[in-house]
Amino acid sequence: LVSRDFHPANTIVDVRGVRVGQGCRPVVVAGPCAVESEEQIVKTALFVKQAGADMLRGGAFKPRTGPHTFQGLREEGLKLLAVAGRESGLPIVTEVMSPDSVGLVSEYADLLQVGARNMQNFDLLRELGRIRKPVLLKRGMSATVEEFLAAAEYILAEGNDQVILCERGIRTYETATRNTLDLAIVPLIKEMSHLPIMVDPSHATGKRSLVPPMALAALMGGAQGVLVEVHPEPEKALSDGPQSLTFPGFGNLMEEVRRLTGFL
Ligand code: PEP
Ligand code: MN
Repeated sequence: LVSRDFHPANTIVDVRGVRVGQGCRPVVVAGPCAVESEEQIVKTALFVKQAGADMLRGGAFKPRTGPHTFQGLREEGLKLLAVAGRESGLPIVTEVMSPDSVGLVSEYADLLQVGARNMQNFDLLRELGRIRKPVLLKRGMSATVEEFLAAAEYILAEGNDQVILCERGIRTYETATRNTLDLAIVPLIKEMSHLPIMVDPSHATGKRSLVPPMALAALMGGAQGVLVEVHPEPEKALSDGPQSLTFPGFGNLMEEVRRLTGFL
């Protein structure tokens, strides 16, 4: 079902009126790693909106590597996202970690994110296949392209074809960056599948200074959007501060995006 051989026409995913896919303008999803407070998420939403972002991201349920770190505000975080969504008018992108919470998260999210650590949580994928909301499926950190597409197949097989793929870097021997951004899969996925593909340069690099150049490279390489972490005070962020862009940093990136995508 994900293969272009059986479905030649490009799938366009509609996220509350924002269209993602080939032939559409590339989209920018921006926001903090995690929702931390009403002030933090509303301030970020209003800033990224005026800078030109198309959607707001923010984690309420956080899949942290260790159990003793900030795990997210959970349902309270979803409610704060709803406030920020209303105030900014931006569609909401947030992660869902378990099949049990798909119902709850889909009441608040316009685009439900499956994190890298859950790419092969097949019960979660099946549950997401049964809802009528779009899904952002991130590539597992050690997943091959074949495994990535097979994971998307689980969602489509249950009847939901509104799936956006997202490359977020993979594990390699290299430790100088958090992960290794595998940009070549952007054109490769476009050859193999009709589903849109986006890139997350924040988790791919783990380093603020590398995010803008890799976001631009992704868009120039044909990605249908980028997912970028932005925080009002990255040094105080409860997660992923070192890779989060500041407001001025995000503003500069958006100027570059507008300049470069004007030529596409
Ligand atoms: C995230 O987007 O906040 C996240 C946890 O990303 P990933 O699943 O790609 O690590
Ligand atoms: Mn993060």
